[in-house]
Amino acid sequence: MKQFAVIGLGRFGASVATTLCGLGHQVLGIDESEARIQAMVDRLTHVVQADATDEDALRSLGLRNFDAVIVAIGHDLEASTLITLMLKDMGVREVVAKASSDLHGKVLEKIGADRVVYPERDMGVKLAHSLLSPRILDYIELDPNYSIVEMAASGELVGKSLRELNLRARLGINVLAFRRGEAVNVSPGGDDVVQEGDVLVVLGSNDAIGRLERLRGGE
Ligand code: ATP
Repeated sequence: MKQFAVIGLGRFGASVATTLCGLGHQVLGIDESEARIQAMVDRLTHVVQADATDEDALRSLGLRNFDAVIVAIGHDLEASTLITLMLKDMGVREVVAKASSDLHGKVLEKIGADRVVYPERDMGVKLAHSLLSPRILDYIELDPNYSIVEMAASGELVGKSLRELNLRARLGINVLAFRRGEAVNVSPGGDDVVQEGDVLVVLGSNDAIGRLERLRGGE
C-alpha cells in the first residue's frame, strides 16, 4: 500500500485522490476550503484543512516519507509554485504538479517538480483525436510524432492473423496488446487472429496510425 497526499481538492485533485483511495492506497487530502474538506472527509483516508502555502503547516504534515505528493492547484500560480518549491525543499521524493498553462508548467519544471501534468490540454487533444477518428478509444502522445492508440478492430483488420496483417513491415506499426472482453493479451504473437470487437493497442507514427485508421475503414 502506498501513501499519497493531494494538495487542492478541486475537480482534478478530488478525482486523483478518490481514485487512489479506491485502489486501496492511503491518501491524505489537504485543502484550505472547509467545504471541500467536508465533501471529502468520508472518501479519503485523512483530510486536513490548511493553507498549504503556510510553511509550518506544510512541514507539520510529515509529507517527506510519502510516495508522492500531488499539487492540484491551477488558478493560484503563486500558491502552486511556492508549495511545489517547499515540498522539494523538504525532501519529498516525487512531486507531481498540475499546470494550467505552458508557462506555468515551465516554471513548475524549473523549480523542481518531478512531473508536470496538463489535464485540460491533454483531454482536449484526446477529444480532438476521438472526434476525428470515432473508433480511437484512447490516445497517448509519446512525442509530437509518435503515439500509442487504443482502437476498436474493424474493416480489413478483422479475421486476419497479425502475421498476415504484417503491420510492422507495411506501416511501421507495433501491436503492443489486445483486449477481448475482459481478457488482455499483452504479448500478441503472429498467430493471433484479430476478431471484430477486439481492442488493439498500437504504437506508431501519427502518419502510420492515420493510414491504419483508413485500413480499418475508419472515417
Ligand atoms: P479544478 O479545475 O481541478 O477544479 P483548479 O485548477 O481550478 O481546480 P483551483 O480552483 O485553483 O484549481 O484550486 C483547487 C483547490 O485547491 C481548491 O479546492 C482550493 O480551495 C484549493 N487551494 C487553493 N489554494 C490553496 C492553498 N494555498 N492551500 C490549500 N488549498 C488550496
